[in-house]
Amino acid sequence: MTEHPAYPTATSLDDFRHNLASVRDHIAAACRRAGRDPAEVRLLPVSKTVDEARIRLAYAAGCRELGENKVQEAHAKWEAMADLPDLRWAVIGHLQTNKAKLVARFASEFQALDSLRVAEALDRRLQAEGRGLDVFVQINTSNEASKFGLPPDQAAAFVRELPAYASLRVRGLMTLALFSSDPAQVRPCFVRLRELRDRLRQDAPAGVAMHELSMGMSGDYALAIEEGATTVRVGQAIFGARALPDSHYWPGLAQAGSRP
Ligand SMILES: *Cc1c(COP(=O)(O)O)cnc(C)c1O
Repeated sequence: MTEHPAYPTATSLDDFRHNLASVRDHIAAACRRAGRDPAEVRLLPVSKTVDEARIRLAYAAGCRELGENKVQEAHAKWEAMADLPDLRWAVIGHLQTNKAKLVARFASEFQALDSLRVAEALDRRLQAEGRGLDVFVQINTSNEASKFGLPPDQAAAFVRELPAYASLRVRGLMTLALFSSDPAQVRPCFVRLRELRDRLRQDAPAGVAMHELSMGMSGDYALAIEEGATTVRVGQAIFGARALPDSHYWPGLAQAGSRP
């Protein structure tokens, strides 16, 4: 796949400073349009496929947390950059129970919780490590774009079970919108997540916070902010285009078309 011209590869400290400032400007502009305070929106840079040298440049440019969608890749980077203790790692991709042990060891956050088996495995491993973990429940708001995430109508029953896992600090919901360049297709996914969050918040069990909405990526974060995102996960607009098409990361995507 050829590099997207809108996402040139960042290779210097200046490139990263420039890209981060530009994404923050766009976040601020989207907040102004929506009458929101930019302080309510967290930028989570996504560094999957990016090598250590370029991640260190991003760190020098001010990044203190990074999202990765593959556990082993994230863990290897965490180990390689153990000299940067204030760098936090968020696992944002689907997890198999046999990798829960690895996540419990190093991650500060897990955004793709969609099964009680994974919740149970994570909690057990976290208890053993004496650690806690911020978690987001992943919701499939698009039906066909991703096979991961809970259907919206199963979310309430799922969330009611989560207080049993004491080391999981539930923060809110996460979604991947439909993969389309048409805002009329994408926006309803974000609206669906916000409305679901609002409903779940009304009878959230004790200890379960249901405030956060992690939604929006390089191609659609402005739209997501207009619809209430509190965390946007931005990779290519900061680091540059990835070499592999998105279908490599999200099974089921090929049929749904690709982002611009
Ligand atoms: C890769 C990824 C992102 C970021 O996508 P970009 O197009 O690089 O901004 C966001 N969320 C998840 C779950 C991802 O895997």
